[in-house]
Parts: sequence; structure tokens; C-alpha cells
Amino acid sequence: MTDMLAPKTILVAGAGPAGLIASLAMAKAGFDVSLIGPEAGASDARTTALMVPALDYLVELGIDTSFEGKSASLRTMRIIDATKRLLRSPTVPFHASEIDRNTFGANIPNAVLAQTLSDAVANQPRITRHLTTIKNWVPSADRITAALDDGLRLEGALAIAADGRGSPARDAAGIRTIGHPYPQSALVLSFSHTRPHNDTSNEFHTETGPFTQVPLPGDKSSLVWVVSPAEAETLNALDDAELSRRIEARMQSMLGSVNVLPGRQIYPLSARMPLSFAQSRIALVGEAAHVFPPIGAQGLNLGIRDVQTIAGLVEENLSDPGADNVLRSYSRRRTPDIFARNSAVNLLNRSLLSGLLPAQMARSAGLSLMEKLPPVRSFFMREGMAPGSGFRGLWEKVGRQDA
Ligand SMILES: Cc1cc2nc3c(=O)[nH]c(=O)nc-3n(C[C@H](O)[C@H](O)[C@H](O)COP(=O)(O)OP(=O)(O)OC[C@H]3O[C@@H](n4cnc5c(N)ncnc54)[C@H](O)[C@@H]3O)c2cc1C
Repeated sequence: MTDMLAPKTILVAGAGPAGLIASLAMAKAGFDVSLIGPEAGASDARTTALMVPALDYLVELGIDTSFEGKSASLRTMRIIDATKRLLRSPTVPFHASEIDRNTFGANIPNAVLAQTLSDAVANQPRITRHLTTIKNWVPSADRITAALDDGLRLEGALAIAADGRGSPARDAAGIRTIGHPYPQSALVLSFSHTRPHNDTSNEFHTETGPFTQVPLPGDKSSLVWVVSPAEAETLNALDDAELSRRIEARMQSMLGSVNVLPGRQIYPLSARMPLSFAQSRIALVGEAAHVFPPIGAQGLNLGIRDVQTIAGLVEENLSDPGADNVLRSYSRRRTPDIFARNSAVNLLNRSLLSGLLPAQMARSAGLSLMEKLPPVRSFFMREGMAPGSGFRGLWEKVGRQDA
């Protein structure tokens, strides 16, 4: 009978941001956690914009979200149509104050985020780290076993797959995916500028994809510049002075003169969705569960909601957190949010790449509506931060008007 009891350990595969956060959440739920994966993030030149609900959850997990003053607040986000197409949209500014908030969230350098999360994991006695990779998985009726590259075998009641877009754990669970590469790559870097950013992010929509500037502390910003893979290589090969000049020109000098800082990287873009989010004692979180282009800062925010959901279910099912009914609930609960974000981001990205008039009309009509109608804008601002909060905001407003 003892053999039939699920072990009290949860295995977490992958030590990227989703895996580190999942480990902290599982430990908080009362489980012993084996976190398996090499150190990640120290050389990542990207920054991550996390919205207030994601930051609040990190606080619940004991993370110091001041990030030692190395993150910047996001108070305004602007979408600027920089296409040369027949139908162009108006500039749409989103101010956090419009939805009675001080800020939408914070932009954090990935290396700082990784270090902060890693320190919190090191201080959590329930988590054991294994700085190696998982060679293969054996799921069975009552447990899952991971064979590590260093020869160790670990058993758990549940495995959280936070092993990224190629997720070997997802394959081991037999979960199929649909997806495709995009003819786009993101050049990422940081730059200093002579005019203040006023805590504002500017997302320029161009025919090759978005060009997104996001504030960093002081007169500095990070940049995600989405172009064709060949153009990304060409831009990356430019010297600092020429690349700075091109960035300033693209931003119409709105931040004054620009100086690129050391550290440029290129990320190829793709989209991928699994057909289920959990199976065979394995639950997918982060990019193992959803990959789409970096538009509107959705990826890790969504990944944190994956972790919140599985953590809630695990707490309700302490005797066997990897049981079939738990995994079915997880998959069912995550589907609407992941499907909605994935569809919205991919549609917007395709509408930028498409020269077809109907696609441009739809994008332009949507942005014009947002620009002209504050309630529509508020709805999308709230919904962009957390699913369902757009509708809650509308009901609260109706309630206030009725009172
Ligand atoms: C240019 C760009 C900008 C972005 N900006 C934002 C933003 O502003 N806001 C936002 O919310 N999101 C953003 N995202 C998305 C965000 O970066 C991702 O959602 C996030 O990094 C995914 O983290 P993850 O932990 O799921 O995956 P990863 O960071 O890929 O981590 C997966 C880890 O699993 C490990 N692994 C793989 N196989 C194994 C194995 N067999 N055993 C053990 N470990 C294994 C890998 O080594 C890796 O460390 C951006 C993405 C891009 C490309």
C-alpha cells in the first residue's frame, strides 16, 4: 500500500524565471521541491516588463520586488503606428492613472530578475537545486521519475515542466504542439538618451514588427527591435554610433540623442501552443506552455499566472498533486487565458506583417476605437494586466453609475 502513495516531492524542470518562481510556489504550498536545471539568465541582455498582479504574486512568494533600484516603473505605454501603409492608426496612449493606478508595473533587467529569484530559491530550505539537465522521464500511475545527466534518479508526485520552448518534459508527457517560426528576429539592447523617458514605454508598429522602447532607471531604456532575421544581423553588425543614429531616427528623436550600451543579442521569433497543458503527471508552465512574439509584454506575465494556477490546485490536493483530476483542472483553467493572449498577440503580429487591406483595416479600426473611447481603452488596459479584470472594471463602473 505504501508503494501506492504518491511521493511528497515535486520536481521542477528548468531554472529559467518560470522554473524558479514555480519552485518557490511549490515550496510555499508545503512540498519538498527538486529544481533541476543549469543556472540561467546571467548573460541575458533582455529586460522583462512585469505587470502589478505578477509583481504582487512575487511579493507573496517572499521576493523583494524593489530589485535593488535596478527596475523602472511603467506609468504610460504608447502604441505608435510607424508603418507607411495606406491605412494608419492614431497614436494610442495608455496611462496607468486612467485605471486609478500609479503604475502598470516595472521593467526589470533579466539578469537582475534571475539573480533575485535565484537568491530567494537559495534561501528556501524546502528546495534542493540540481545544476544539471534531465536526460529522460518515466511517468507512471502514482509517480514520475526523472533520470538526471549526473546519474541521479529523482521521484515526485508531480513534475512542473518549465524547460522552455523545446520542452523535453512536454514530449515525455506525449503532449503535441502546433507552431511555426516567424520570418522575424528581435534585436535586443539597452541605450542611454539625453531626454527623460518619464516612465513611458513606446511601441512603434512597423511593417517588420514592433520596435519597443521600455524605460530603465535614469535616462536609460531597453529596446526590442523586431525585423527580418537578415536585417537583425545587419543592424547587429553596425558600430555603436551608426546603430545609435538609426535608433534615434526610428524614435523621431523623442528621447533626444541616443547612445547604445554594450550587450546586444538576437532572438529568433516563433509561435507554439501545446494541445493540452498537463498530462501524465507533468504540468507545463512558462514557454513550455506558450510561445509568441514579444508584443505587449505578455509572455512571463502569463507564465506567472500558470504558476499561480497550478500552485492553487496543488494546495487543494495535498495528498496527490499530480493526480489526473488535478492535471485536467489545470489544463481546463489555463486554456482561456493562454488561448486569448496567444491569439491576440499572433493576430496583431500578422496584421503588421500583412500587406492585405482587410488586416490593416481591422488593426486600424481597433486602435482608433481605443484612442477615441476611454472605456474601451480602460477595458484593454485592465485586461492586459490580468484576465477578467477588464470586465470587473466595467461592472464596477456600471455599479458606481447606478448608485
Ligand atoms: C525579446 C523578448 C522580450 C520579452 N519581453 C518580455 C516582457 O517584457 N514581459 C514578459 O512578460 N515577457 C517577455 N518575454 C517573454 C519571456 O522572456 C519568456 O516568457 C520567459 O523568458 C520564459 O521563461 P521560461 O522560464 O518559461 O523559459 P526559459 O527562460 O527558456 O527557461 C527554460 C530553462 O529550461 C532549461 N532546460 C531545458 N531543457 C532542460 C532539461 N532537459 N533539464 C533541465 N533544464 C532544462 C533551459 O536550460 C532553460 O534555462 C520576452 C521574450 C523575448 C524573446
